[in-house]
Amino acid sequence: MAPRCLFRGSISCPFPALTLPIHSDPPLHLMVLATDKPLNFLCMVSLLFLDKAPFFLAMPHSLRDFSSPTRDRTRATAVKAGILTTRPPGNSLIKHFLIYSVLPDFCMLSSRVRLVATTARLVHSQIYSSSRSFMDLKALLCSLNDFASLSFAESWDNVGLLVEPSPPHTVNTLFLTNDLTEEVMEEALQKKADLILSYHPPIFRPMKRITWKTWKERLVIRALENRVGIYSPHTAYDAAPQGVNSWLAKGLGVCTSRPIHPSKAPDYPTEGTHRVEFSVTHTQDLDKVVSSLKEIAGVSVTSFSARADDEEQTRLSLNCTQQALMQVVAFLSQNRQFYQKTEILSLEKPLLLYTGMGRLCTLDESVSLETMIERIKSHLKLSHVRLALGIGKTLESPVKVVALCAGSGSSVLQGTDADLYLTGEMSHHDVLDAASQGISVILCEHSNTERGFLSDLRDMLHAHLENKINIILSETDRDPLHVI
Ligand SMILES: [Zn+2]
Repeated sequence: MAPRCLFRGSISCPFPALTLPIHSDPPLHLMVLATDKPLNFLCMVSLLFLDKAPFFLAMPHSLRDFSSPTRDRTRATAVKAGILTTRPPGNSLIKHFLIYSVLPDFCMLSSRVRLVATTARLVHSQIYSSSRSFMDLKALLCSLNDFASLSFAESWDNVGLLVEPSPPHTVNTLFLTNDLTEEVMEEALQKKADLILSYHPPIFRPMKRITWKTWKERLVIRALENRVGIYSPHTAYDAAPQGVNSWLAKGLGVCTSRPIHPSKAPDYPTEGTHRVEFSVTHTQDLDKVVSSLKEIAGVSVTSFSARADDEEQTRLSLNCTQQALMQVVAFLSQNRQFYQKTEILSLEKPLLLYTGMGRLCTLDESVSLETMIERIKSHLKLSHVRLALGIGKTLESPVKVVALCAGSGSSVLQGTDADLYLTGEMSHHDVLDAASQGISVILCEHSNTERGFLSDLRDMLHAHLENKINIILSETDRDPLHVI
């Protein structure tokens, strides 16, 4: 009795695409035949799906090899739930695949697999999701960091992986939300999320216990019990060139924008905080000076030839840490000939042009405040916003420069010269300060200025992660405040 073919498809990505993210009820037992050409079998793979975690058995052999049972079956490796440990050789050749339901008499091909169900129920749309595969959590985190480096985040923030199920952890479904409330967690669990990307960090202050008493503790418990990770990018995404603030600026109209507080390159300078430079005129001193300086921890020395006052000199340049600087100065002060002409420079990290907090946007063509309000409402899909008119301004006043900051913008916007401030929330007194300077203020509620970014994020991450995993948006996540 032959197995029944359920699906025939082709894939352009390598083998992991065959780890099918199918959630079936009841559990199903599938066999996948992967081929480099239809009818020319390259390898045979058996898959067992138990709830959401697949038991995976890979048999990286040609169909011909299967006739040699001892060789093949002994090399087959049963793998624990959700873990792929065996990959067939030559996997890049796999272009086509067929999925068969496995019938009881076909079990001879996978004798080491414990059969749990002989009936399989497949929904066609689920099969289509089979072109996506799992990503190991660690690999996914690396890719997310390539998308927007966590080093962009503010120093006070709590970003990155906040809850990690015991490794290894594979991610099939990435669930995006602005805020991780208990209602959103319930939705994430129903949708079988493996990793929740919560823009705001659900854990911020240190926790002293994990009990059922408070909602944040319960979030951690539910995440770990259900093997769901939690990752939060927060201010790293605020600062990123393709991040939340850039998305917010898109609603203003055609404009040029720059960060209000540009980020600094995180990796530079690579060594030290200061540079000390001085010249050595007598070459016989050079070796002695260099070796003495190199003995100081935290100092790197480079030398180059220079010409000053028609005299050939060797110029020494030292990068040193704050701590080493004092020792370098102490050494040089004992040698007057060096010390008199020593220059000490404080090293700054270079600014990143398109990365940073807030955005100062200059419109190509100014528009009335009334028009700008309509544009913002339309972009944020809001029927109401709150407006404070700047002193001397009306709804007809022109708006050319807008300073914006998603979320709570007071500290970022403060002191910025603009016609309009756009943010989620500001304190009463900060609004009064801005208005007194003739700056109008539009407030939209905190997360209304952030949440819409998530659909752009989903599309960008799909492309960035090469469609390897499912990415879904929360439907229950919303701002807690409503106008009634
Ligand atoms: Zn926020």
